[in-house]
Parts: sequence; structure tokens; C-alpha cells
Amino acid sequence: MSNTPNKPHNPYDDIVKTIVTAAERLGYSENDYLIFTHPKRELKVSFPVRMDNGDIKVFSGYRVQHSNTLGPYKGGIRYHPEVRDNEVKSLAAWMTFKCALIGVPYGGGKGGVTVDPKELSESELERLTRRFVRAIYRSIGEYVDIPAPDINTSAKIMGWFVDEYSSLKGYNCPAVVTGKPIALGGSLGRVEATGRGCVIAARETLKKLEKEVEGTTVVVQGFGNVGHIAAKLLYEMGAKILAVSDSSGGVQCDAGLNIPELVDFVHGQKNQLKDYKAKNVKPIKNADLLTMACDVLIPAALDNQINAQNANDIKAKIIIEGANGPTTLDADKVLHQKGIIVVPDILANAGGVTVSYFEWVQNLQNFYWTEEEVNEKLDRMMCKAFSEVWKLSTHEKINLRSAAYMRALEVLVNTKRWKGVYY
Ligand code: GLU
Repeated sequence: MSNTPNKPHNPYDDIVKTIVTAAERLGYSENDYLIFTHPKRELKVSFPVRMDNGDIKVFSGYRVQHSNTLGPYKGGIRYHPEVRDNEVKSLAAWMTFKCALIGVPYGGGKGGVTVDPKELSESELERLTRRFVRAIYRSIGEYVDIPAPDINTSAKIMGWFVDEYSSLKGYNCPAVVTGKPIALGGSLGRVEATGRGCVIAARETLKKLEKEVEGTTVVVQGFGNVGHIAAKLLYEMGAKILAVSDSSGGVQCDAGLNIPELVDFVHGQKNQLKDYKAKNVKPIKNADLLTMACDVLIPAALDNQINAQNANDIKAKIIIEGANGPTTLDADKVLHQKGIIVVPDILANAGGVTVSYFEWVQNLQNFYWTEEEVNEKLDRMMCKAFSEVWKLSTHEKINLRSAAYMRALEVLVNTKRWKGVYY
């Protein structure tokens, strides 16, 4: 295994290897694909924010624009203490491949601020967001680079974002960012879209295996925007959710958790998930949750969760990658040998950017759709990409990730050939 204790795992190395393998299978030369192994532009900014007590703190922020071959750069902004340049670079590259695969006319980008938002008051968070916009606003725009929510960045934060950007420009620019509050031009269905997309990916995989969602046992790591929606929708479809966790810890119940009650406890009453108490509910550590026996495991938290250390112990039959990069390349090989089906992040969690695209289209047309229309279009696009990837993986006898990268690279290289070398 290439992961040594001295060398921290660098997800960007995995991405480059995956691209090169896909290019070789497609018979491409370096001339065709080399550009996609490099981010086109990387911006790092430092910006001051006044804290409530009058002190000034300086924060680091990033925006990496990986590729704009298919359209404007697109991707979320995360607030997290672990945000680093290499991580943002990988997240931006995943967006390029995700957009190409799902069929939205965008390139890939990603941004972030190194901060623990839990340590900030609401007004500090607002000032931080507005200062970050000022630091990067020359590099973004509705036809240039369109940010969106990611870890710890909500619709409210996107609202501050669009307001600050519009003030700087002097006119209302709703299409500069997606995932906004509905009142500011957000799309119905956007908040649920990534979780809903994961559920579509799980439903389609089960269908291929001639199984039903009803009665399927599910484990979810992460109870934020992606994890809790996926758990809730699967629960409503009759699946049995055996365990869920967030950064505070996890809970498990062999008979299945009452997800609506848990969602209300965590998101309604703002309690920590680990403090949830109910009959037959036991605490579980995040590490143990990942290796539980179940039909479907949904890692919907951070990257690098399933790695060379725990891959052998994974007992799930299907993994739906709600998070970006939850499985390392080493671990992916082990899972494939074990016969575990992994629906890769660039397919499984593409629901978010798909409905972001719908939001952007609605903003540009100033014509808004019903939630049914949004959900129906999302289902159609997810199913199309899923069936293309499944078909290719069966035909080439490769795992779904390799097939997804082949398909996405084909779209990128084909477009690049029409455009020429320098754009
Ligand atoms: N942050 C989400 C992702 O990783 C959504 C990005 C977007 O909507 O632009 O896919």
C-alpha cells in the first residue's frame, strides 16, 4: 500500500492516477488530457475580520478554478478548520469531473476558509463571509465562477454572499452563487438535492441487483445537509436506518432508528446527535459505524474516511459516496476485490450541483419552477448518468469509479478538441 505513516494522504495524487488510468483505457495521448491533471488557477487570500470583542483576526481563504472547458467554474465554499490548499485543489478537480459526468455545462472550482464556524458568533460569521467575498469577488461572476454551499456553509451564508457581491457590483446578481434562500432567488429542492441524489443512486443500484429500498439496511456517516436528508428520504421509503453519526459521535439501533425524531432532535432542537436517547438506542463510535454490517453505507462527512487501514473491515454491500473523496484509491481497490459496489462521489453526490444548475438557469431566465419540476428533472439526469456509468463498468469489467472517470474524461477531451489547446 502506498500510504505510509510518514506521508499524509494527498487526495490530488489519487485524482491524477485515476485520470491517467481513464485516459489510457480511452487510448488518449498526454496531449489530450494533461491539462485536466492541473488546476488552471489557484487563489489564496488573507483577509481581516473584526471580532465581537474588537480584536482583528486574519483568516486564510482559497478559491481554486480547476477547469472551465465545459463552462464557468462551479463548486462550493466550505468553512472548516482543516481547509488547506491541497484539499481545495482536489475538491475543485472533483467538481470538473462531476459536472462533465452529470451533464451540466460547467467547469470545476472550489473554495474555502480555514475556520471553525462553531467558534464564531452569527455576526462574526456574517462579517467573515462578506470580507471573503471582497477578497475574491474579482475572480468570480455569473459567467465566470459560481460558488455554492458545501460543508458548514448554509443558504443563509449564500444570502450574505450574494448581497455583498451585488453591493460591490451595484446591481442585483442572483446568478453569481447558488444554494441561496428562496426569497433571494434560490431554487425549490436545492437544500435537499444532494441527499436526494444519493437516494436516487442507492435506489438505482438496488434496482440493478433486483432489490427494493424497502427493508434495506442503511448506515449513514454525517448528519449534515447530505446525510440527514438521505437518511430521512430512505426512512420514508421504508429502509431501516441502523446507525447515523456526526462529528459529535453516533447512535445505533438494531431495530432501526426513528429518523424524523432524530432530525428534529438535532436540526430542530439544536442538540448534539450523540446526546439522543431512546429505547434500544446505543452510542457508537464513528470508526465502528463505518465497519457495521449493512446493505448500504453512505459516507456523507469528510474525505479519507475509508482508507487502507479500515477497507478490509468494511462489511457494507453497497457504498454511496455522499461526501467528496471519502474513499482513498488504495481502499477502493480493496473494496472492489471484496465485491463491494462503490457508487463514486462524482456520481452519487452530483444532485447538489445539478439543482445548482437549475437554480442558475432560473435566475438567468427570471422564471421559476415548481419543486416537482426540479425533482423530476434531477431524477432524470441522475438516472441517465447512472445507467451510462453502470453500462460502461459492466462492458469494461471495471469498477464504477473508473467508468465514471472514463465517461467524464471523454466529454472533457471531446469538448477540448473542438475548442483548441488554449481554452
Ligand atoms: N458543494 C457541492 C458539491 O460538492 C455543490 C456544489 C455546487 O452546487 O456548485 O458538489
